[in-house]
Amino acid sequence: MLTEIVDPRTFLLVANLLGMFCALVLWVQARSFPDDINGLGDWALAVVLIGSASGLASMRGIFADVFSIVVASTALLLGQYLLIVGLQRYAGQEPRWRPALDGIGAVVILIVWLTYGSHSYQGRIFIMSLAHMGLFSIGAVLAWRAKPTGIGSRFLTAFFVLGVLVAVWRLTTLTVAVDQSDEIFDRNLIQQVYLGMFSLGVLGLSVGFILLTNERLRAELEFMATRDPMTGALNRRAFFAQAEVEWARSMRARRPLATIASDIDFFKKVNDTYGHHVGDLVIKDFTSRAAQMLRLPDVLARFGGEEFVILLPDTGLAEARKVAERIRGEIEIHRNKELPAYTVSIGLSVAQGEAGQAADIEALIAEADAALYRAKQGGRNRVEA
Ligand code: GH3
Ligand code: MG
Ligand code: MG
Repeated sequence: MLTEIVDPRTFLLVANLLGMFCALVLWVQARSFPDDINGLGDWALAVVLIGSASGLASMRGIFADVFSIVVASTALLLGQYLLIVGLQRYAGQEPRWRPALDGIGAVVILIVWLTYGSHSYQGRIFIMSLAHMGLFSIGAVLAWRAKPTGIGSRFLTAFFVLGVLVAVWRLTTLTVAVDQSDEIFDRNLIQQVYLGMFSLGVLGLSVGFILLTNERLRAELEFMATRDPMTGALNRRAFFAQAEVEWARSMRARRPLATIASDIDFFKKVNDTYGHHVGDLVIKDFTSRAAQMLRLPDVLARFGGEEFVILLPDTGLAEARKVAERIRGEIEIHRNKELPAYTVSIGLSVAQGEAGQAADIEALIAEADAALYRAKQGGRNRVEA
């Protein structure tokens, strides 16, 4: 009855055409996305291979068996393996071609024998379905682990699992057409539906991978726009965006808000004595160690050179002083053995969540800066409020 509504070959043609459009999108993305987002090119090629394979397979009886069976099966397996390669490269792993290609070669030899030797179409379907189950299962695991964890990863996983289920279903329907001859079997409705599902499945997979890579791109752009590239700390602009929110919240809730301004002591001497590179390492060292002293809602930002500002929501003077002393002491005492010893001076200011003190977040930071200046004047390696 289904065949009366849609002609299977027309359906396959349309599905494969859509697949080719997806391949085009993947290919364009592969060329325009940043170099660290990999796998798009592999997927574009995979979609073309799988589309060609199901196109060839649907021409069974019209084309010679060598094309409609052997070449089609090879292209299908290679295409499905390329989906895995793409996901591996996306995750930053190098694919292991050798064992995979050996496996695919073995399956193809088996297919040739089942086609021309034993004429076992059911054996062929059986082998291919097993291969699909294996490849799609690996794909599902890789898709589930793909970062960022979002709709793209889950969408992709769902389609890989669907692929496994379809292959299982194909195995269970193997016995349905036991008494039919080879050619009729290959052209029967079940086989056509099976091929159709592959074409639709590849569409779903492509959309999933496009979603995934776009989510990664968005995350990378956001990171680049808000972070200092050297230390990964927030930049000034992102800091103020967050600080304004915290300021408004603490004023409304009448909760204290503390800021810490820190500056490494005699840093020019580090640069002059050990070189700029070691200076950079010291700045990174300070960033990671200061960050370890902070809680989740605290915001650490690099304001320039070796100057950092930290925002401590819901933190009063005594508490902020403790945090500042902890950072100062940690830097002074637990020195990183690979780097020259250094110290920091810290200034801090607190808004009590009431009018009449610092007028805005800039004024609060200016107060912390003034305290920092006093800490420098007072001999450095100290905390002033
Ligand atoms: P003070 O104790 O008074 O802070 O003395 P200081 O030598 O640390 O003085 P200051 O804070 O003004 O020094 C900042 C120096 O940091 C000047 C600049 O050459 C250097 N600097 C700024 N940005 C970077 C950077 O990204 N990497 C390195 N290695 N040095 C930087
Ligand atoms: Mg300094
Ligand atoms: Mg400085």
